[in-house]
Amino acid sequence: MKADRIHNFNAGPAALPLPVLEEIQESFLNFAGSGMSVTEISHRSKWFDDVINDAIARVKRILKLNDRYQVLFLQGGASMQFCMVPMNLMGDGDSADYVNTGTWSTKAIKEARIQGKSINVVASSEDRNFSYIPRAIPFNAGAAYAHITSNNTIKGTQWAQFPDTGGVPIVSDMSSDIFSRPLEMEKFGLIYAGAQKNMGPAGVCLAIIRDDMLARTPEGVPSMLRYSTYAEKNSMYNTPPCFAIYTVQLVLKWLEETIGGLDKMEALNRKKAGLLYDYMDQSDFYRATAERESRSLMNVTFRLPDEDLEKTFVAEALENGLGGLKGHRSVGGCRASIYNPTPLAAVAALVDFMKTFERKNG
Ligand SMILES: *Cc1c(COP(=O)(O)O)cnc(C)c1O
Repeated sequence: MKADRIHNFNAGPAALPLPVLEEIQESFLNFAGSGMSVTEISHRSKWFDDVINDAIARVKRILKLNDRYQVLFLQGGASMQFCMVPMNLMGDGDSADYVNTGTWSTKAIKEARIQGKSINVVASSEDRNFSYIPRAIPFNAGAAYAHITSNNTIKGTQWAQFPDTGGVPIVSDMSSDIFSRPLEMEKFGLIYAGAQKNMGPAGVCLAIIRDDMLARTPEGVPSMLRYSTYAEKNSMYNTPPCFAIYTVQLVLKWLEETIGGLDKMEALNRKKAGLLYDYMDQSDFYRATAERESRSLMNVTFRLPDEDLEKTFVAEALENGLGGLKGHRSVGGCRASIYNPTPLAAVAALVDFMKTFERKNG
C-alpha cells in the first residue's frame, strides 16, 4: 500500500518519483490505448517509437544539447562503459588521462588497462582515502580524453566544478549525478550514466556522445560494443530494455514538467544536502566523511562515534520508516543517498530522526 512506503535512501537502485510509479501502475495493463502492457509491445511499434523518441528529445532539451551530440541507450550498466570507452575512443598509439577518485574510477582504469591501453593516472585522492576531489591536475595536452567520475557514490564526493583540461574532451561517468545540475556540455566528449541512481530502474545506461568521438572507433570492434551501432539504429539495433527506457522517459518528464528543469533541480538538491550537512557540522555526534569543498549533494556519507552506534542507528532508522542508510560495505559507516527523486520532506524526516537519536545516545 502507498501508505506503507518508507523514505528510501538507497544508493542504487534508488527511489523514483512517486508520480512516476503511479503513472506506470495506472498504464501498466493497457499502454497508450494499445490494449497491451508496455512490457508486451514490440520495440518496433509506433508506441515504443514515441517512448524512445520522447525520451531522447527530453534529454536534449534538459541538457540544451546542440546537434553534435547523440543520445544513446545501452545495456551492461555503467560498468560496460568502463571497457567500451577506451575500446571506442583510443586508436593505436593513443594514451588517455584518468583521475582516480574512488571505487568506480579505479574500476574504469582497470578495464582500460586490461585492454593494454596506455593510461596515465594524472591525479588520485587515494592518499586521503578518496575523501576529496584533486585540484590543479596536470592533464596531458595530447591525451585522447580525460576520464573523471563526476560523483563518487561510495566515498560521498563530487566535482563541484569541472576541470580545465586544455581542450581535451572530458569523458565522465555521471551515474550518480546526471541531471542533478546544469552542465557546460562543450567540455564533454562523452557522458555515461547507469539509470538506476538518478533517472530510472536498473537495466539501461544512458550515453551522450559528440560526433567527433563517435567517429573514432577503430575497425575490429564488435557491433554490440560500438557506439555507432546504437547511433545509427536509434538505440534499437537489438531489442532495447523497453521498460527501463519508458521509466526514464517518465522521470525526465517529471524533471521537466514538475520540477522545472536543471536550475530548479540543482537548487532543490542544494537545499536537501544543506539540511544534512548543516546539521552535522554543528553536531559532535555525527561526522561527515568527505572534505568540505568536495562534498557530494547526492550521497551524504557520515560516521557516528562508534560502529555499534552506527548499527543501532541504521536499524532504528528503519523502524522509523527511513531505509537504506547503511554505508557501502567497502567503507562502512552511514550514507544517505538523496538523488533527484528524494523529496525535501524525506530529508527533513531524516534530520529529525538524527536529532532524536543524538539526544538519546550522545
Ligand atoms: C553504481 C555506479 C556504477 C556501476 O553501475 P552499474 O550499472 O552497476 O554497472 C558506476 N559508476 C558509478 C559512479 C556508480 O555510482
